[in-house]
Amino acid sequence: MVSNNNPTDIEVTYLKGVGPKKAEALNAIGIYTVEDILYYFPRRYLDRSRLTPIGELTLGAEVTVVGRVLTQGLLRTRSRGFYEVLITDGTGNVPLVWFEGLKYFAGRFKKGMTLSVSGKVTDFRGLQMAHPEVEIIFDTEEEEMLHTGRIIPLYPSSDSLKRLYLDSRGFRRIIKPALDQYATYLEDLVPKQVVADLHLMDLPTSVSQMHYPDNFEIRAEARRCLALRELILFQIQVVDRRQRIAHKQKPQKIEPPNQTQQALIADLPFKLTAAQNRVIAEIAGDLLKPYAMLRLLQGDVGSGKTVVAALTMALVARSGFQSALMAPTEILAQQHYQTIGKILASSGIRVELLTGSTPSPARQQILRDLASGEIDIILGTHALISDDVVYRQLAYVIVDEQHRFGVAQREELLRKGELPDLLVMTATPIPRTLALTAYGDLDLSIIDQMPVGRLPVRTALRTEAERPQIYKFIRDEVTRGNQVFIIYPLVEESLKMQLRAATKAYEELKSDVFSDLAIGIVHGQMKKEERDAMMSRFSRREIGIMVATTVVEVGIDIPDATVILIEHAERFGLSQLHQLRGRVGRSDKKSYCILMTEMETLSESFQRLERFVESSDGFAIAELDLELRGPGDLLGIRQSGMPEFRVASLVNDLSLILTAREWAHKLLTNKELTSAEEKARLNQFVKQQRRLERSSGVS
Ligand code: ADP
Ligand code: MG
Repeated sequence: MVSNNNPTDIEVTYLKGVGPKKAEALNAIGIYTVEDILYYFPRRYLDRSRLTPIGELTLGAEVTVVGRVLTQGLLRTRSRGFYEVLITDGTGNVPLVWFEGLKYFAGRFKKGMTLSVSGKVTDFRGLQMAHPEVEIIFDTEEEEMLHTGRIIPLYPSSDSLKRLYLDSRGFRRIIKPALDQYATYLEDLVPKQVVADLHLMDLPTSVSQMHYPDNFEIRAEARRCLALRELILFQIQVVDRRQRIAHKQKPQKIEPPNQTQQALIADLPFKLTAAQNRVIAEIAGDLLKPYAMLRLLQGDVGSGKTVVAALTMALVARSGFQSALMAPTEILAQQHYQTIGKILASSGIRVELLTGSTPSPARQQILRDLASGEIDIILGTHALISDDVVYRQLAYVIVDEQHRFGVAQREELLRKGELPDLLVMTATPIPRTLALTAYGDLDLSIIDQMPVGRLPVRTALRTEAERPQIYKFIRDEVTRGNQVFIIYPLVEESLKMQLRAATKAYEELKSDVFSDLAIGIVHGQMKKEERDAMMSRFSRREIGIMVATTVVEVGIDIPDATVILIEHAERFGLSQLHQLRGRVGRSDKKSYCILMTEMETLSESFQRLERFVESSDGFAIAELDLELRGPGDLLGIRQSGMPEFRVASLVNDLSLILTAREWAHKLLTNKELTSAEEKARLNQFVKQQRRLERSSGVS
């Protein structure tokens, strides 16, 4: 027995009809408690008032009808057996027939059942529907009588769920009684004042109306209210996290930029863009403040974020404090080490590199010098958050290409210091809805300008038939002294197979088409040393063509690369393609991005790629990606510590997000708005979420 009726505290097995097998299947789709199943909303509805009456069926029409089973059974024509179900809806009868899978269908439907049937009307001996899609709506006439509403929920399911009778009907059988019994006990954490001011439908009603709406206007309103609740509770956590840091005095005191800083800038081989100057000023402004900075630096690939990191770390070093920059891959960390080392060479600031492959004696020395404060700036991979890395006073933390890391890793690095300033750098332009949620606790700086002289990368969509010309083109570019990337996709599921595809292609190119050119390969399964050696040969221009899996996606800077050929382009997200395209066009040479695909020109994938070809605006592409593939793909949401919202949409709910944010601020600053009891509950909720967040570290 459970001691209360709060659906959050009751396991789903407690519901009637949910045995261990079903519970396991439900757990697998994230349903553990009664609350979870109450939030398992229908994907579609069957609106009985909008159906085609059976009496009005016409030959050839695609229809959905609902009718009750009159008779059913196996019948025979002269040549073959078939299964027939005769249904009626009061306006007429129509037979449903199956010529295959008789064993499966025979006995599946019973007299008195109500079925929803979709398919095409054909003619055999009179009108009929052959092999239609069928869903059982009610098992018996009594059940139908009980159900007076005209809108019936259709729940999402899967083959494995269906095998356990968790089809739409199965879900209705569990959810309907659960609603009747438990919905009233759903606890609304949103304070009364907010509910009143925003005219929110009460929580139990909203949830019930999502399942069995009186009409679709009410359903839309129920959705709005649930989305707002969800977003408000989320924004309270975001604003709370921010406030906890924003009001504490940080120990480091950073001096304003001086002449040496000016000298570093003057020594750069290029002139900073206005946008770079602006964001450097924004960051420096924050560094000088008594409270820790929490800032997101967003700048399209190639916009020049590294120099911003270098110059602001120099500022911190000058004041006698330490900085750490964490990059997602070894190659990238090394590249940072070279570029940043060069920028700061004349400054006397000590910069070191620490990664998983730093040899032990060197590592020991670095650890000692970090602890004593002799190292000013440490660059590296997640090796920087190892337990034995101790800083004398870590005051500034930069995380590059953030979405490769989890929030948990970011926090781990932050905990190495006492309220260090934080800069998160990302090349993925983040649509506003996401910026306000995933990064809602960060201030935003944007580099919205490319260094002068950059030409847009010419992008083209090509098919197999054009491969010979493409190879010729690549050959011409390499002969001219330029470099080429050939990219193969690698997705987790079929890692081995695709790896074979990439290596095989490499072997073929090497022994055949490009046998006279220097060609190399890098992929994730290679030993680190091999991979690094290969990349350095490429950056020293000893290799003209580099076959690669997506390890080159983030960050790599090869100025002479002018062509990137992407195989199976349809397998990439658009933002990912944009990152890849950013590997070329990093100098004043004309560059090309060639997408290979065998998709049909009319297919969705092809059209998605066509839209990519037309756009060079990373921001527009990110928006498109968000719309087409959802936030998970764009940011690696699960890793970034964002919950997957049950109702709210990060594509469409911008105005709700803004409202939620405004209220979260109001609630946390104006104490009058919440009663003591509400405050206690909210506090408990926030604490619990924080614990969840900490424990959700990713590797
Ligand atoms: P990202 O923002 O993608 O990290 P990088 O910092 O790697 O970009 O810079 C890309 C390239 O542009 C580098 O070769 C860098 O030296 C160069 N660069 C950066 N700022 C400028 C500038 N203001 N003018 C010209 N080139 C620049
Ligand atoms: Mg970069």
